[in-house]
Amino acid sequence: MRIDRAGNKGLIREINEALVLAELRCESLQSRADIARNTGLSGPTVTAITSRLIDRGLVEERATGASAGGRPPVLLGLRPSAGYVVGIKLTEERAIGVLTDLDANVVARADAALTSPTPAAVVGAITSAVHALAPAGHGRILGLGLGMGGVVDRDAGIVRHATFFDWRNEPLAEKLSEAIALPVLIDNDVNALVASEHGWGAGRDVENFAVVTIGRGVGMGLVLDGRLFRGSRGGAGELGHAKVVRGGPRCECGGHGCLEAVIGDPALRAALAGHLGREVTVDEGGALARDGDHRAAAVFAKAGRHLGRAVGNVVNILNPDRILLAGEGTRNLDLIMPAFRRALDETVFDGLQDGLSIHVEAWDDEAWARGAASLLLNELFQPNLRPDRAEPTLIGLSAG
Ligand SMILES: [Zn+2]
Repeated sequence: MRIDRAGNKGLIREINEALVLAELRCESLQSRADIARNTGLSGPTVTAITSRLIDRGLVEERATGASAGGRPPVLLGLRPSAGYVVGIKLTEERAIGVLTDLDANVVARADAALTSPTPAAVVGAITSAVHALAPAGHGRILGLGLGMGGVVDRDAGIVRHATFFDWRNEPLAEKLSEAIALPVLIDNDVNALVASEHGWGAGRDVENFAVVTIGRGVGMGLVLDGRLFRGSRGGAGELGHAKVVRGGPRCECGGHGCLEAVIGDPALRAALAGHLGREVTVDEGGALARDGDHRAAAVFAKAGRHLGRAVGNVVNILNPDRILLAGEGTRNLDLIMPAFRRALDETVFDGLQDGLSIHVEAWDDEAWARGAASLLLNELFQPNLRPDRAEPTLIGLSAG
């Protein structure tokens, strides 16, 4: 790989700056000596880098640490307001937007309805959300991350297939970037959620975990050996289309017996209607089950069984430390969980349960939008190894 910039020295400096920023991002408030110890850089190198970062407004001196006898060390922290990013969660009906600082704290919210499922309407809605968020970014918005359902080729910026918009090979990142004049990163929405859990949430302390989302559909995102795993074309983790019932109900993907077609909200509604003899929403069915209606309870228990078996197979293949259950379907998890646990126990190979924890995430749209912002934030803290491409990066930013 040949990198064309101010020679290798420039690249090494960028990488070292990125190391220091990443270290301060993991743990704010460290002395220069802590940073040197944790990054393996020399003391003088850390001093030179941190003074450059302080000059550029990315890092600030915040407090003094405990003295080990002499002068107490000054503690350094990332300056979260040095830059902002927009995160968008795209649903069938809306573009839900947040503006976050560099610490992924949400500082503003905006959301816009889609007038039609066309790319032009989607770009229009997102553009109006970005304009509404812009004042809170004080002219320091560094880019936009977007998460949406479907197979998204993040590197190419192309939506390969979005079932709910009926899009194929749509170059959404380029169109958006032209409209809002900012770098844009798009990814599958579950991957966006995983980026957030990995950076700030329940996955930050483990190297191997899966986020399984349940609700209208079923999705999965994976962190393996500490890295988000996307597969060769961004399509990894389609647990929703694992075939679980032979000759089962037809799925939106065209297949039969997919997990999503068996436990997704539309499937639960159909099963509840079949058992109860009338149409109810999933939440009404949940309330009936909690009131002691055995027919309604059986629908949720069956969903739990299917989900437990599917997740158990994931555990058998990947041996993760943790499974995070997320998505709007977790609101009925109390009804699903006993059967889920039993099926998981029956499915998981001996020994792989040891050390496995199951964690349930509180759910809301903002978590997804914040996840989309995290996609871009993660990118910002990397050195730009592809100078031929306008990758957003903090290195080189002067926040003043
Ligand atoms: Zn399917």
